[in-house]
Amino acid sequence: MKEMGLVHKFIDFILPRICVLCEKYSSHKNICKNCIEEITFIKPPLCYGCGIPFLTEQREKAYCGKCLNQKNNIRKIRSLFLYEEVTKNLLWEYKFNKKIFLKKDFLKFILENKKHIDFSFENYDFFIPVPLHEDRFLERNYNQALMIAEELSRHFKVPILKNVLLKTKITLPQSHLSQKERSTNLKKSFEIRNKSILKNKTILLIDDIRTTGSTLLECSKVLKLKTNLKIMDAFTLALTTRLT
Ligand SMILES: [Zn+2]
Ligand SMILES: [Zn+2]
Repeated sequence: MKEMGLVHKFIDFILPRICVLCEKYSSHKNICKNCIEEITFIKPPLCYGCGIPFLTEQREKAYCGKCLNQKNNIRKIRSLFLYEEVTKNLLWEYKFNKKIFLKKDFLKFILENKKHIDFSFENYDFFIPVPLHEDRFLERNYNQALMIAEELSRHFKVPILKNVLLKTKITLPQSHLSQKERSTNLKKSFEIRNKSILKNKTILLIDDIRTTGSTLLECSKVLKLKTNLKIMDAFTLALTTRLT
């Protein structure tokens, strides 16, 4: 251990780390301790369906009003943290400032919070990242949902399906639209190929941010309609919500 300490000190000496958020010195870490403390990791009590946090303690497997009033194709949705100032900046660095190495930190956070996320990641037949349209992919050169799926896949040894759920229509960025416009914008934008592979399978849809949930909803609709899968859950890194 003492030797490891010396090795770290040496690495620090030649390669000092700077926190991607506050740009202060951060020993061995991409995100410093102070910035991590500002992240709100989502913990129970939560809606058993959509995973939105409840303000007050509830009985086990309680559902929020929204989930009780609509039929969900997705059994359970869970997210890692709330989308607030600190996580907004973090995802911006990850998505638009090419800090792709942050995917390792996200995996670490997921593992540390696995008990709250309450998924047996290793038990799914497939992970399916929410796809980007091919043109967007070429523009940006990477799909952030796919990269999170790849980290989870490597760790939990679950294969990723890239050629089943496809985005075949270019849509406007969801963040610029109202809730109603968001669902119209996405209509018929996803398609299914090679559907037989999903017969009786359990899948986990993976995305980076969940705002109104329209993207996951649209993906789940087409998956439910066109395939015979058994169980569909969804996971996102961030959730933009007010407590319910
Ligand atoms: Zn920091
Ligand atoms: Zn709910």
